[in-house]
Amino acid sequence: MLNVIIFGSPGCGKGTQSALIIEKYGLRHISTGEILREEMRKQTELGKEAARHIEKGYLVPDALIIRILADILAEEPNPKGYLFDGFPRTLTQGEELDKMLQEKGTPIATVLNLDVNEEELVQRLIKRGVECGRSDDMESVIYNRLAVYRNQTDPLREYYKKQGKLFTIKGSGEVSDVFERVSDVLDRLIL
Ligand code: AMP
Repeated sequence: MLNVIIFGSPGCGKGTQSALIIEKYGLRHISTGEILREEMRKQTELGKEAARHIEKGYLVPDALIIRILADILAEEPNPKGYLFDGFPRTLTQGEELDKMLQEKGTPIATVLNLDVNEEELVQRLIKRGVECGRSDDMESVIYNRLAVYRNQTDPLREYYKKQGKLFTIKGSGEVSDVFERVSDVLDRLIL
């Protein structure tokens, strides 16, 4: 099994690259942001709770997200592996994910860290807000999300670097060029 985390700031291209990765490598895509947005659309209790945090640009509480992940991992496993997109976002989530995967005997193989400078991130997020109407891509919320990323999520880079699993990839430029760089890393792991 090839378990991969796609990591990086909001707007770095995780969703775009994830779509290409799952198509080429057949991994099961787990996007916690997508799962939460679906719950919000359906106006479930979980969706309403998540919306209170998401709309302000804050993270949803760890316990809630970890429960969602545990439920997914308890389902029929994908023999090819998982692509974690937008998870983990805190050290606690990272440690819990390691524990859950350890129990299954299939650890994280690699963490692809998409690196894009902050100016470009802001431009991309503003554009996405206009095109997709995502409430958390409004300019007033964007800066909060970037600060939350720096304070709560970025420390995970060190966590995975210490484990020797972090690959930093230049995330600016053409989508196809970024994907070529991503594929280089994944192909080396498969061969
Ligand atoms: P995303 O689509 O990954 O950018 O996620 C959108 C929003 O959903 C984030 O800004 C968070 O508020 C929330 N969210 C998604 N994944 C997580 C997570 N792993 N932990 C906490 N909050 C999350």
